[in-house]
Amino acid sequence: MDSWWDLGEWSGVEGEKLNLHEVTCPFCFESGNFSIAFHAEKKKANSHKILNFDTLLCNNCKGYVMVLWSATSDYHAIHDSYVVPWPLKFDKYPKHWPETVGRFWLQAHRNLLDENWDASAIMARSSLQAALRELGAVGKNLFQEIEDLSKKGILPPLINNWSHELRELGNESTHADISKSGTQRQDARDIVKFLDFLMQYLFDLPNEINEYRKRKTKS
Ligand SMILES: [Zn+2]
Repeated sequence: MDSWWDLGEWSGVEGEKLNLHEVTCPFCFESGNFSIAFHAEKKKANSHKILNFDTLLCNNCKGYVMVLWSATSDYHAIHDSYVVPWPLKFDKYPKHWPETVGRFWLQAHRNLLDENWDASAIMARSSLQAALRELGAVGKNLFQEIEDLSKKGILPPLINNWSHELRELGNESTHADISKSGTQRQDARDIVKFLDFLMQYLFDLPNEINEYRKRKTKS
C-alpha cells in the first residue's frame, strides 16, 4: 500500500461496510459485540473514496478499539481495515486458507505464546504438510512431498530449503529424539515466521491475484 487512500482498493474482504463480526475485542476476545462510540469520515477530493475512522465500544468488557476502514471507491464490493489494539492471541486464520492448514497454523502460534517450543514446531510441521497436500503433493513422507512440489515448480528453491529446515526441526520433536535438547525458543520463532511467509506465498498471493482478476473482469 503506497497511500492510505489505497486501503480497501486492491484487497480486502467482501462487503461494502465494516462487518463488526470481523473485529475481535483485544481485551476479552469476544467478536462482533460492539457499538459505535464515534464515527468520522475523510473524503478524498474529486473522488468517492472515503476513509472511515470508527471507535468501537466492546459491549462485553467496555474496552475500546479504533478501526480505520475503507471500501473500494468505484464499486463497493470489498473493504479493508486496520484495528488498534489487536488481540495478542491468535483466534482465526484468513477465510481463503484450507481449514486443516489454518487449524495447525493457529496452534503453532498459540504454542509460541505459551512457550511450548516443541509443540509449536510440531504444529508448524503439520501445517506445512497439510498445505503441501492441499496443493497436490505426492510422496510417502514430508521429504518426498516437498521435493515433489519443488520439481513441479510450485515451491521455489529458497522455500524448498526452508521447508526442509522446518521439517527437520518438527521431526526432532515429533520423534522424541533423545540425543537432541529439544526445540529452542528462537528456532521455534524463526520456523513459525517462515510458516507465515509460506502461507502468504501459497494462499494469500494467489487469492490477491484472483481478486485482481475479478476486479478486471468487472470493470
Ligand atoms: Zn471486550
